[in-house]
Parts: sequence; C-alpha cells; structure tokens
Amino acid sequence: MALNLLHSNDRKGTYPNSWYAATATPPDPYPTLDSEIRADVCIIGGGYTGLSAALHMAEAGMDVVLLDAHRVGFGASGRNGGQLGSGQRLDQEGLEGLVGAPEAQTLWQLGEEAKALVKSLISKHKIDCHLRPGVAWTGSNKRDVAHLHDYAHHLQDHYGYGDVELLTEEECQQMCPSPAYKGGMVDHGAGHLHPLNLALGLARAAAGAGARLHENSEVLEIQEGAELRVKTANGEVRADQLFLACNGYLGGLNRQVAAKVMPINNFVVATEPLGEEASRVLRRDVAVADSKFVVNYFRLSHDKRLLFGGGESYGYRFPADIEAVVRKPMTEVFPHLPDVKIDYAWGGTLGITMKRMPIWRALHQTCCRPLAIRVMALAPRSMQAS
Ligand SMILES: Cc1cc2nc3c(=O)[nH]c(=O)nc-3n(C[C@H](O)[C@H](O)[C@H](O)COP(=O)(O)OP(=O)(O)OC[C@H]3O[C@@H](n4cnc5c(N)ncnc54)[C@H](O)[C@@H]3O)c2cc1C
Repeated sequence: MALNLLHSNDRKGTYPNSWYAATATPPDPYPTLDSEIRADVCIIGGGYTGLSAALHMAEAGMDVVLLDAHRVGFGASGRNGGQLGSGQRLDQEGLEGLVGAPEAQTLWQLGEEAKALVKSLISKHKIDCHLRPGVAWTGSNKRDVAHLHDYAHHLQDHYGYGDVELLTEEECQQMCPSPAYKGGMVDHGAGHLHPLNLALGLARAAAGAGARLHENSEVLEIQEGAELRVKTANGEVRADQLFLACNGYLGGLNRQVAAKVMPINNFVVATEPLGEEASRVLRRDVAVADSKFVVNYFRLSHDKRLLFGGGESYGYRFPADIEAVVRKPMTEVFPHLPDVKIDYAWGGTLGITMKRMPIWRALHQTCCRPLAIRVMALAPRSMQAS
C-alpha cells in the first residue's frame, strides 16, 4: 500500500493513544458502508469540517451521507490543542495587507461568526467538551510583547473587539511563571475545550438531524458521471454532490486540491496529573500560545495535567519518539519540568496552504453539479465550524 497519512501512523479504525481518547466516551462505531446507497450529498471526512457540513445540510433537509476511513474525530479534529481562537490564521494586519481593509473586516466577522457558532453548537447540542474562556498570547521578548499590545489596540480601534486584556511582564509571570515569556495579552472571547468530545458531539448532532454516518469506510475512488459514484472497499454512494473534507489526510484522493495543500505534522503530550505543582505552570484557567514560528501551545486539563503542543515534522511518518520531540520545547518553557512523567504523546496531521488561509474550491467536472471542497485554515486561531 502506497504510503499515505491515513495509515502511516495509526491503527485502522482506532483513535491515537492520546489523553483525549483516554478521556472521551466514543459511541459504538457507526456502521461500515457495505452496500450501494443513494444520497443528495456525499461528504468524505468525519472531522469538524465534514461533521458540521453534515449537520447543517441535514438540518436544511438534504439527504446526507458521511464517510470516514477510520472514526469520526480520527484526524486533526480529535487530536489538536483544543484552542478556539478569534479571527483567522493570519492576523488582521496581515489580512489587510493581503486583501485590503474591507475584505479583512469581512474575514474578521467570518471568524467571529465561526467562533460564536462553535459555542452555540456546544450549548444547543449539550456537548460536554469542557469549554472554558480565555486564550493568552505571550511574547518572548520586548518587541513581540509590544507587537501583541499594538495588535490588541488595533483590534479595539478597527474591529471594535475589546475582549482583550494586556499583560505586563509581571502580570504574565503571575499567570504563567515561565522565564520564556515577557508579557502578552489574554483574549477572553477565545476559549479552550476537549476537541475529541466536540467532534463526537457534532457527530451525534449530525446523526440526530438525519445524516447517515459511516466509519471504517475509506473512499478509494470517486467516479464522475451522470451522478457521482463514491467507492469504498465494500460499498458505493451515488450522489449529486460531493463535499471533500479530508484536510491534511486528503492524500491523492483529489490531485487538484492536493496540489494546494501541504500536510504537516504537529505533536502534543499530556503529563501526569501535576496536583499542587500545576500552579508552577498556569495560575489562570486559560490556554496559552506563544509567538514562536513553530508555536508552543499549552493549557491544563481538567485533571491538572499539562497538555503541551509543539514541534513539527513533514512527510508521512511521525518521529519514533514524540515524547522527546515535545519535551524539548516544553522544558525550554518550563525548565523545572525536565523529568516530569509524560503519560500520553501523540501526533496529528494538518494541511497548510501557501497563504495560511482556508481554500474553498468548487471543483468542476464535465457534467452535473459542481463538486464542493473546503480545506480548513489551520491552528491555532479558530476551529471554524462554519
Ligand atoms: C496537533 C494539532 C494541534 C492543533 N491545534 C489546534 C488548535 O488548538 N486550535 C485550532 O483551531 N486548530 C488546531 N489544529 C488544526 C485543527 O485541528 C484542524 O484545522 C481541524 O481539525 C481540521 O478539521 P477537518 O475536519 O478539516 O479535518 P480532520 O479533522 O483532519 O478530518 C479529516 C478526516 O478525513 C478522513 N479521510 C481522509 N481521507 C479519507 C478517505 N479517502 N476516505 C474517508 N475518509 C477520509 C480522515 O479519516 C479524517 O477523519 C491542530 C491540528 C493538529 C494536528
């Protein structure tokens, strides 16, 4: 089997050995597709993108089928840092330069709507994913801190976004006693959550709205024609429209899109519960992301473990020792934790685009209605369930 990210680092149909999988309660697997069925829309990919699309399309009365090669939330959606951020992956100043101020306003608004939608889906569908407010951005030097403070003012002045608290070096130390950080800001409109429980909750909601979910149903081929024929090993979906939501796990399923997306791998560890020692890591119940090029992001779990994400790799195989990869940046941020016991270490793959912005693409085929495709912009700004 040609190397592909769907099978390079994980056992088939199984969640990675993450703290999220250890603390989530996934339902029994949704059935494997084992016959020929018809639908208005066939969605490939059971992460936030596919599940949210399935939920909203089913609520709109469409006959929806979703196929995932493994389990819902198997991909980046069930393994990430759990940070629900504001705006887009590119900050507003970057967007103003890229698309101009009016479009930057629109994209800011879209990010805020997406953030609000995630929160409303969680409350409407009673999704128990420990959503808590607050993401802090920290700078490692005076210049980074000054930039973060200027950015907070920029959001206030140009986007009317005042949900931000500035942190001096002392206030930053009170929040997170790490020698690595010299100040920053806290975005109280952002938040953090249990990402796999969010995905499982979206799946329950989509199934409840009438979407047919099939797990362990890897799509091997898509045939165009009078109607689309989406083929798996044991079944087939005939549909009018297709929604590809495979993100970094797309592989060769669609070359047009694969040409625009580069998969990268990122890694997270969960320490043993820290008990009282947790206050030497964080004294406020916020998540943190720093201003390094390869972002370090962390927070405390509800059982007082440090969930620390950092390190990056390219290509199909994860490094043999993920723990060692993440322990390095973790010890740079928390020098007092060189020997802390790590109970879980896992990796995940996300797709990045040249501009670090989402790509939406209607993929035209010779006949019938356009295909639809979306690739998510990536972490850690906003999970964008819109
Ligand atoms: C380690 C890590 C940390 C991150 N931290 C954050 C964060 O803190 N905040 C944030 O906003 N974002 C974060 N992200 C990014 C975020 O997780 C992703 O942007 C988001 O989850 C992508 O969702 P998705 O539904 O598009 O794709 P995924 O969740 O990746 O889902 C794609 C699905 O497609 C399925 N699939 C692929 N090919 C096939 C096929 N041929 N047949 C059937 N199914 C197929 C896969 O099995 C998979 O389940 C992080 C990502 C990683 C990896």
